[in-house]
Amino acid sequence: MILLKLLLLVVIIWLVYSLLKKYSRSVDRDEQAPDVPASPEDMVRCARCGVHLPRSEAILSGDETFCCEAHRSEHQS
Ligand SMILES: [Zn+2]
Repeated sequence: MILLKLLLLVVIIWLVYSLLKKYSRSVDRDEQAPDVPASPEDMVRCARCGVHLPRSEAILSGDETFCCEAHRSEHQS
């Protein structure tokens, strides 16, 4: 009964394959860091026009933040 043997072989391969998949998935989950959102940048608000922008792109002036140099000087005058 070569057909039966073949069927058995296919079933075994499938079992091993699905077990490996399950195993690798659980390993992946263990190794991954907990889902921390990629540290969203601080958003600041332009004191002149109210637009929100990341702190790194803002122009800082004292305690206030601005979207551009023009708004900074407008606000201060
Ligand atoms: Zn602005």
